Formats: sequence, structure tokens, C-alpha cells
Amino acid sequence: MTAFGILTQPIRVAIVGAGPAGFYAADHLLKQKNLAIQVDLFDRLPTPFGLVRGGVAPDHQKIKSVTAIYDKTARNPGFRFFGNVTFGSDLTLTDLQQHYNAVIFSVGTQTDKRLGIPGEDLPGSHAATEFVGWYNGHPDYRHLQFDLSQERVAVIGVGNVAMDVARILARSQAELDATDIAPYAQAALAESKIREIYILGRRGPVQAAFSNPEIKELGEMEDADIHVDPEDVVLDPASAAYLASPQADRAEVRNVEILTQYSTEPLEGKPKQLIVRFLVSPLEIVGTDRVEGLKIVRNEMVQDDKGEIRPRATDRTEILPVGLVFRSVGYYGVALPDVPFDDKKGIIPNAQGRVLTQSGGDVIVGEYVAGWIKRGPSGVIGTNKQDAVETANLVLADFQAGQMWLPDAPQPDAVVALLRERGVRVVTYADWQCLNDLEVANAEGTARPRVKFTEIDEMLKALDQATETTPSPSGD
Ligand code: NAP
Repeated sequence: MTAFGILTQPIRVAIVGAGPAGFYAADHLLKQKNLAIQVDLFDRLPTPFGLVRGGVAPDHQKIKSVTAIYDKTARNPGFRFFGNVTFGSDLTLTDLQQHYNAVIFSVGTQTDKRLGIPGEDLPGSHAATEFVGWYNGHPDYRHLQFDLSQERVAVIGVGNVAMDVARILARSQAELDATDIAPYAQAALAESKIREIYILGRRGPVQAAFSNPEIKELGEMEDADIHVDPEDVVLDPASAAYLASPQADRAEVRNVEILTQYSTEPLEGKPKQLIVRFLVSPLEIVGTDRVEGLKIVRNEMVQDDKGEIRPRATDRTEILPVGLVFRSVGYYGVALPDVPFDDKKGIIPNAQGRVLTQSGGDVIVGEYVAGWIKRGPSGVIGTNKQDAVETANLVLADFQAGQMWLPDAPQPDAVVALLRERGVRVVTYADWQCLNDLEVANAEGTARPRVKFTEIDEMLKALDQATETTPSPSGD
């Protein structure tokens, strides 16, 4: 056992990525009773919370209340937030090795999975992740433009992100008024001509990836009817047998019940239609200069030798006359400088959270992963808690075994000085709380919970102004 972990020489852990996984990992480390641990949590944005701020749909405010737990973690004296610090440029892996005993990467999966079909890059074909970032006011996406003058749009995929995108496209202005959607996005949606939103699943209703509350919510929209073709909810024999078996999940059974009910209900004549279709795969996004249609093929479900139920294309194709396509088939990780990356899986190769030189390779001492960049983009926010705790426990076990970096400059001030030297404007947790208060104050007198800052410059300027008017700002 080394001398680290005592008050005079605490163990210092850097966590890169201030989303749920980063906060849960920090929380677990800081909770250790007999070990002095300090955690510095870095994020390239001035704002924390990752997808809770930039991904969770603006009409799902209750889900966002999870940030109260992260605030509690941030109140631990061993915790510091370093916002507006980009790993790889502002701070490199070598820097971290000089200042910390270990690093946990919890950067999420920042880009989209590709479909690999012709026309995917035509103007008017967008990754759902971009649209999500745009309506949520994420600084990376706020300048994107979506041609909402189209009447018909396709959302490819039937996961919860597809549900979010479809819902936001279908929401009435009154419904959006009570959300924290970026004001420019609400204004653009107010002019939207979209009337038909196709939501396309390549497999059947049993295999749909959305959860029960999300598909239920789609049937409760003020301005949109939901349409499900009765033919689509007739199950193939293998899926029907699975659904009747003890292996079937309650949520799968409920999804089929909800969809079956939709297929029998008459439309109410609302101005927009959400048309959910199953057993169709995209073949090509059609168009010369921009999206003019989506060619799809009808699938049938077949059981393979291993008993897996898979979609198989038939010869029935059609072209949906859509002018806009959102590809919502999953997120995908982005490689970090000097950190191994598994191109096939879109994650950092790891064994339960210990970073490996490559998939199946050797453990790299001092480097860990948590959250989506560890296991891929799956599960709900809470799933990241057990995931991060698993990683944090490995970090602790490795410390006990003396497996850690031995930094030259472990003093907490050293990294602050280094960033100052490099001219990096660090945003502390106190700064973030100031931004938070300003966002909430900016929504005063409206039904909105907040009006988000959507530009990094705007955030830093607001902080400068707040500091000028506050004589003695608190630290972090
Ligand atoms: P997801 O749940 O993995 O869904 C992806 C969808 O894309 C599936 O329907 C999948 O079909 C389909 N797909 C994949 N490749 C395809 C292809 N080549 N052609 C056609 N369809 C294809 O991913 P997600 O919607 O991005 O969500 C990511 C995670 O975040 C999920 O765990 C989700 O539950 C979570 N999330 C939760 C909420 C919430 O709780 N409200 C909101 C948003 C996101 P197959 O199943 O056939 O592969």
C-alpha cells in the first residue's frame, strides 16, 4: 500500500466529461470513508450535466431534476469542476499523468451511427443527434439549420431518441412554451410546415426500442394524431411465441398493447400526424440536390439457426415522399487524443472500465472509462450509476494494489496554475451556478423553467459581467 489516500497526500482523480456517468463516478469516489480522495471533473463546455442538459428533451423537465443529485456531489469539499477545458488541447493525457493518480473518461458518445445507404449526406438528411443538440441549445449545434418548410419528414429508428425528435416536431407552440427549448428553435418550429412525421422501425413492434411512457406520450399530443397500420401489429409467429413466453419483458408486452390500441383508434383530425411504421428498412435517401424521398423496403421477420428473430428484406419497396430525414439509429463515440479507441464499437476498449490497449489487449494503468464511452449508448440516465460505480470500484481496488500514476505535481493548485498559464478560462462550479441563476432569472414571467445560454462566448461574457458586479465571488 502506498502513502496515497491520506489527508496529507490524497488520491487525486481526474474525470473527463461532466455528464451523469462522470458525476456518479465522482460521487462514489468521494463517498469513501477511509480514504482521502479529491476529484477534479473536467468538461469542454462551461456547463455541466452532458446529455441531461444537451440531450434530454426539453419537454421532459422531470427527468432533468436528476441534476439536484449532481449538485449535492459538487458540494463535497473534495470536488472541483473545471468547465470550458478541452481534453487533448487545453489539457493533455501527459498533463493529467503529472497531476493525478488516475483518470476516468466519461465523455459519452458524441456522434451518430451511420446508416451506410446512398443519399445519406444529401442536404435535408440529418443525424437526429444534431437536431437534438440544436433544439436543446447545445453550442456545437445551435447554428445548424433544418428545412422545416417541408410537409413530410421521416425519422429512421424507433428508439427513445426517435420518440423525442418526433414529439418535438409535433408539439404545439403552447406545449413548447413550458419547456426550456432554445428560443431560436421554438421560433423556427413555430413556422414549421411539417404535417406528416413517419417513424420507421426495421423490425416489428415486439422489438421496438422505445419505452412505454415514450410511446404512450406520442398518443397524447395536443396537435398530432398517431397512426399505426393494423397490418403492422400483426405479429410474425416467432415474435408472437416470444411475447407469450416467460422470457418476454413486461415493457415489450405493454408496447405491443399500446400500439395495438393505436391501430384500432380513429384519427381525431388534428393538424399533424405521427405515422409509426414497422418492418421497413431504409434503402436510399433519394434526391438530386436535396432530399426528395426515402426509398424503403418491406421486411419480414425470420428466425435464424441460433433462434434469433431478424428482419429480412422482401421485394416490396416504396418511396416515401419526404423532404427531410432524421437518422435516429444510435449514437457513436469519438476517439480522444492519445487514448485507445475501438472503431468497430465506437467506444474506448475496456474491461469493466479499465482501459485496454485495444479490444482484448492489456490494461493501461491509471486510465478508466465510465458511461456510454465504456459500454455504448444504451440504457437510461440511472443505468450510468451502476456503470460508474463499477468503474470507481476498480479504481479503488487498483489504488489498494498500488496500480496508479505517481504524479510529479499532485498539488491541487498546480493544475489551476497550468491552465491559467495556457490562458484557459476555467469555469468553476460556482460560475456554473451563477449561469444557472441567470438562465432561470431570464425566464421570469414566462412558463419556461429557464432560457438557456447557447453560445460559449455569451456564457463567459455573462460571467464576467456578474463578477464585475459582485465584489467578492465565492470560489469553487
Ligand atoms: P436505441 O435505443 O439503440 O434505438 C436505435 C433504433 O435505431 C432502434 O430502433 C434500431 O433498430 C434502429 N436502427 C439501428 N440501426 C438501424 C438501421 N441500420 N436501419 C434502421 N434502423 C436502425 O438508440 P437511441 O434512440 O439513440 O437511444 C440511445 C439510448 O438513450 C437508449 O438507451 C435510450 O433508451 C436512451 N434514451 C432514453 C430516453 C428516455 O428515457 N426518455 C430518451 C432518449 C434516449 P434495431 O432495434 O432493429 O437495431
